[in-house]
Amino acid sequence: MGALPSAEAPLRVVVSGGSISGLGTGLALHRAGIDVHVFEQDGGAMHSAGAGLVVQPELAALFHPSDGAHLPTTSCRGRRTLGFDGEFGALQRMPQQFTSWAAVHATLMKLFPGERYHRGATVERSTRNEQGLQIDIGGVGAVAADLLVAADGAQSPLRRRLLPDLNPHYAGYVAWRGTVPERDMPQDITDTFADVFTFGDARSGGHALAYFIPGENLETTPGERQMNWVWYVGANAAERDDLLVTRDGIQRRASLRRGMARQSVITELKARAIADLHPMFARLITLTAEPFLQAIVDFAAPRTVFGRTVLIGDAASIVRPHTAGGAAKAARDAQALADALVAPRSMIDQRLDRFQREQLHYGQTLLEYGVQLGRRWARL
Ligand SMILES: Cc1cc2nc3c(=O)[nH]c(=O)nc-3n(C[C@H](O)[C@H](O)[C@H](O)COP(=O)(O)OP(=O)(O)OC[C@H]3O[C@@H](n4cnc5c(N)ncnc54)[C@H](O)[C@@H]3O)c2cc1C
Repeated sequence: MGALPSAEAPLRVVVSGGSISGLGTGLALHRAGIDVHVFEQDGGAMHSAGAGLVVQPELAALFHPSDGAHLPTTSCRGRRTLGFDGEFGALQRMPQQFTSWAAVHATLMKLFPGERYHRGATVERSTRNEQGLQIDIGGVGAVAADLLVAADGAQSPLRRRLLPDLNPHYAGYVAWRGTVPERDMPQDITDTFADVFTFGDARSGGHALAYFIPGENLETTPGERQMNWVWYVGANAAERDDLLVTRDGIQRRASLRRGMARQSVITELKARAIADLHPMFARLITLTAEPFLQAIVDFAAPRTVFGRTVLIGDAASIVRPHTAGGAAKAARDAQALADALVAPRSMIDQRLDRFQREQLHYGQTLLEYGVQLGRRWARL
């Protein structure tokens, strides 16, 4: 990497992707006095794909109490497993906090300056020149920068250009997800799941889990929250591809958002829930209007710093949801990158090198942990 501009000029950073790692990076860099702009290709309501997240310390650390914007969260007293034969397991004390993707995104949006967040703006390519980088952005034009951060997700277009031969490895099962507004839940279902992180063994292997998250308008009071569930189901590659065909007949690669799954697939999923899961889980899944789907994959890029382009979040590595670590990893990357970039200009290469080493180690460790948990829990 060549010399960066003089110490007087703030470092100019373009972030591609305005989800958790992109916005988190924007916020951490802005707090560090760096001239950062975030470009998000989606021009509409991004929350339609969102559901629940477990709050980990790395994610919570992005939100400073002094900023005045608090992350809406729900909580539980402990964990309990419901057997497929109708058994209610004992409660194990283990308090935990939960939130939703929409709540994290909305809170980050409150904290990050609006004039630095650009919607409907697709990062297309970057070219190196004597002044740094020229980044071409659809809907915006050419932007000059010193560093490009690829926070463009699991299917990262920038990573595909840098590492064209590497693809995520399919783990052999999918996660169905859904949410149900608490106001639409019969009282006995609410009582079963209230205050507990509930797991459910499935008769044919795999497991389900459920917890309350903030409501559609981020309310956290009982009665106004949503119930969030996930069910891991085995599917070979052909079955996965079939599940990933939308109701419009489009073959998707990795996930289906709400409203995309075919009605016949949803009907089959609900019938399978009745045969496979504890009746309370089956009723919860049956109540869900639009379940959505994610194919479970493992991926870790062998490097994440390419001169003046840095991969972070899911673009750098994808871990299984059992770790509850995807958003925490994104938040950790964001803060670590900000810490690396506040160094004197002459040390930035060195600091990015260290950032990369630590990021690769953290990502690989979490990835392996996810594979272990998958073997132990998903049993698929
Ligand atoms: C709408 C949405 C909802 C989600 N909901 C959940 C959830 O409920 N639970 C959960 O565990 N995880 C969820 N995720 C995934 C979760 O955010 C990630 O696993 C993790 O937080 C790391 O995020 P990321 O920012 O690295 O990647 P992602 O969250 O995948 O974000 C990548 C972003 O980059 C944008 N992008 C891609 N290419 C370009 C480009 N060329 N130019 C500009 N922008 C581009 C995408 O539109 C996307 O917003 C969701 C992701 C999205 C986008």
